[in-house]
Amino acid sequence: MKTFCGRANPTTGSMEWTEEDENYDYHQEIARSRYADMLHDKDRNVKYYQGIRAAVSRVKERGEKAIVLDIGTGTGLLSMMAASAGADFCYAIEVFKPMANAAVKIVEKNGFCDKIKVINKHSTEVTVGPDGDMQCRANILVTELFDTELIGEGALPTYEHAHKYLVQEGCEAVPHRATVYVQLVESKRMWSWNKLFPVHVEAEDGEKIIVSPSEMENCPGVPSVCDIQLNQMPSSDFTILSNVMTMFSVDFSKPVRSASTCYRVQLEPVKSGKAQIVLSWWDIDMDPSGMINCTMAPYWVKSTSAFQWRDHWMQCVYFLPNEEPVLQGEKVYLTACRDEYSVWYKLQKARGEEEDKADVRVESPVCRCQAHLLWNRPRFGELNDQNRTCQYIKSLTKVLKTDSVCLCISDGSLLPVLAHYLGAKQVHPSKIDLYHPDEFFKANHLEDKIKIIEFFFELLTSSLLEDKKISVLVGEPFFTTSLLPWHNLYFWYARTAMTSHLTSNVTVLPQSASLHMMIVEFQDLWRIRSPCGTCEGFDVQTMDDMIKNSLNFRESKEAEPHPLWEYPCKSLSDPQLVLTFDFRETVPQHCLSTEGSVNLLRKGKSHGAVLWMEYHLAADISVSTGLMQVSNEKGNCEWNPHCKQAVYFFSSVIESETLSDLPSAVTYAINFNTKTGEIAMDFKL
Ligand code: SAH
Repeated sequence: MKTFCGRANPTTGSMEWTEEDENYDYHQEIARSRYADMLHDKDRNVKYYQGIRAAVSRVKERGEKAIVLDIGTGTGLLSMMAASAGADFCYAIEVFKPMANAAVKIVEKNGFCDKIKVINKHSTEVTVGPDGDMQCRANILVTELFDTELIGEGALPTYEHAHKYLVQEGCEAVPHRATVYVQLVESKRMWSWNKLFPVHVEAEDGEKIIVSPSEMENCPGVPSVCDIQLNQMPSSDFTILSNVMTMFSVDFSKPVRSASTCYRVQLEPVKSGKAQIVLSWWDIDMDPSGMINCTMAPYWVKSTSAFQWRDHWMQCVYFLPNEEPVLQGEKVYLTACRDEYSVWYKLQKARGEEEDKADVRVESPVCRCQAHLLWNRPRFGELNDQNRTCQYIKSLTKVLKTDSVCLCISDGSLLPVLAHYLGAKQVHPSKIDLYHPDEFFKANHLEDKIKIIEFFFELLTSSLLEDKKISVLVGEPFFTTSLLPWHNLYFWYARTAMTSHLTSNVTVLPQSASLHMMIVEFQDLWRIRSPCGTCEGFDVQTMDDMIKNSLNFRESKEAEPHPLWEYPCKSLSDPQLVLTFDFRETVPQHCLSTEGSVNLLRKGKSHGAVLWMEYHLAADISVSTGLMQVSNEKGNCEWNPHCKQAVYFFSSVIESETLSDLPSAVTYAINFNTKTGEIAMDFKL
């Protein structure tokens, strides 16, 4: 069987569908999965084990046989815990075939074949009865079906079904209960991920302000959760407006209802300010006493001793539909609504006692302005970065003349508007998916001044350009289809394809780009790619082998994108320029490759290399999409907070405790294939 996989082609900027081997999806899923991260989550594992032991003993004390249902068994870990704790039998359900196969092997290797039956089905397909998958209903329900938002992976409908058909009434559930917490905050930084702030442009004829259309100002946005490593958000970047409140909880030992519902809490702001954001996280109590608790609370809420790094569960940022001023001590209502899979919030000023509960219903937000569909949260942040905008303004000022005919190539970009204000005679933004351009230009009274050309660059014709040649070609560059930093080199391909429409002395901005690389030691991110060996005494090496095999599938020596502001690391080498791309010239026919070595300057573990692009807008003006600075002698790095960087994990880690045993260098070979637009790399330690 073949499957089709969508992938953006960096040489054309468009999505292409390629036919892949049926194993392709599996390997992608396993290689990039969070199983390793879960198995490294000591806090989670220990608490599940304690909760499972307690549940098994409660059932045994009642004189019953302990029959366990483990929904979503993954490696089989929780079933093996139950069997070790004395459970009489476990039904381990796993829908994902490669994982179910792995679970069979792991269960066998650990000697639990007679106690654990792995069933490769979705739990809603499981049958009970003498000829069924399960002989009888279970009296212990064990699951780990939660995501950062708790319910996003479908835990509620799965529980609802399990209580109806698969477990006995009064069953023990591990976890026993989940509770969702919220805290109201004001944060310019996080709000800038959701609304476009006015952009200030110093033009020759005075300051201009670019504003967003009212439709966008008032747009409630999209309900999709913004999940981040909130522990990397410094406390100076937000103001707490309320105490931590319990929003709602779910008791998993009782029938669960997945139907849409709302919850409301009254809160008394501890500070006056602009309510913009609801920060949220959850905890799970593994047993009814609440003594075995696993929490995602961020650093300012929980004691440092409880800290466990994890990437499979983080914290949620919810944007209120609009910012609301709140006054200290003046009560407000916060409403959380949820459907089966997602949660959204609304803030209301307190009203009278007689308030009708039905009034509380809040519809799921629907983006009306389209910007929330086309710009993701980091992109909003990037467009709101006034420092970055300043660099573009400065360089546009340098290159634009009153007779410039300017074409912009970037998705959903403000460059056309900037270029217009900075004096270009004629400005043409390109690409059809520019966010609602008409509305945007109208709000800024530019509708007659900027002509949008809808085209794919291959189809650009002289008549579309009114027989003029382009004298200034600009790009940020930024394209929504880019996954890795170098995918924005699509700008170079577009520039090449439209060469015949450019004047002979065209100015291209950026004039060039460069790829930079640095060897780093991660504080925690290394865990997601590190083998586990054993987990709570169980041999899970089969899983390690499986991940390794998937990573090696088709020998893909691939880097992966990560937003490194969320994942602290320290530099072990100086940043090194590895390749440059000259946009003043067309894309060459031959590949661009480089080899070299980079010196290790600090002791530490070389987990991998980080790669990023820098764009040279004009002489002396550059923007970095990666490293901003190395902040101290320890080598702590500061990364561009709006971009993902490319991380290449080394398959073996070199470790040095002292400077004297430090291997002096890492050698590398990096190749940019101009035919495919992809970069392949190899490192030797
Ligand atoms: N229990 C393991 C793995 C948890 S990951 C552990 O704690 O380490 C969750 C797993 O549940 C995934 O492998 C996913 O494929 C599976 N899954 C999710 N919903 C399911 C359902 N309703 N039925 C069967 N498997 C499910």
